[in-house]
Amino acid sequence: MNATKPVWRTRIGAIEVFRVEEMLGPGFDPAFLFPAYDKAVLAQHPMLAEPAYFDAATGRLMSSMQSWLVRTGAEIIIIDTGCGNGKTRSHPAFRRFHQLDLPYLANLVACGVRPEEVTMVINTHLHVDHVGWNTRLEGGRWVPTFPRARYLMARAELAHWQNPEGGPRMQPEGVEAIADSVLPLLDQARVELFDPSDEIAAGVTIEAAPGHTPSQIAVRVASGAADGLFTADVFHQPMQIVRPDWNSRYCELPDLAIATRRRVLGEAADAGSVLFPSHTGAPHAGRIGRGANGFHFIPLAMTEA
Ligand SMILES: [Zn+2]
Repeated sequence: MNATKPVWRTRIGAIEVFRVEEMLGPGFDPAFLFPAYDKAVLAQHPMLAEPAYFDAATGRLMSSMQSWLVRTGAEIIIIDTGCGNGKTRSHPAFRRFHQLDLPYLANLVACGVRPEEVTMVINTHLHVDHVGWNTRLEGGRWVPTFPRARYLMARAELAHWQNPEGGPRMQPEGVEAIADSVLPLLDQARVELFDPSDEIAAGVTIEAAPGHTPSQIAVRVASGAADGLFTADVFHQPMQIVRPDWNSRYCELPDLAIATRRRVLGEAADAGSVLFPSHTGAPHAGRIGRGANGFHFIPLAMTEA
């Protein structure tokens, strides 16, 4: 959790990818995060019990909060912005995100990028742990952390959270994050809306990945023969790769979340794509294998960089 850690980096063809850490440590109890959880999964799939994914001392899942930083040459893109510093998160389940004071921006600089150099910020969806560093507090008001970036959000996702019967009803504990990390950008006319299938930069395309939220998106990055997909919260943990029928308690449309998970995992297994999820423990990214008993996770060998 400090800036002197080695920088996590890999490539998708000619495109560079860095992981900007906000925090990494024990997060939710799996029985809380996954209502269908059965602890037998740890014995059936010993990799899931390894320290990278499961903290035996606390019985909690190892959880990463981070941004993915993508350098295409022309663009410096941040995908999702973690939880943010100095933000009030009143709900007890969000205590880990309350009034943080973490060296996220120093970790970004360690990746060779200053906040003012970021050209584009993409929020895959508008949950509390994906929008936090959109803004930072300056002189008592929330200002854009990335002063020159275009902030891109899915048109339908923003509408979902602007509708009192949408996100605010389904997940009232998330409204604080909309207020301090999304609305100030709207007020300052910093948000650009997109629709799935839009190519937002050379080799970078938005894809629909609905279910976790009704309008969650994933980001496809292609370069030459290489293919990567930033999967947002299609799955939180490798546990959901072996059990794609396990939703998190924060999946707003459960049946659609399962269908999207199965589709994304199947397509990645077929294509050999590298998946970059939002919260998976080290090495934080990997490919999907498929055997007689279903899917399994193949962690990325960091020597591929
Ligand atoms: Zn998340």
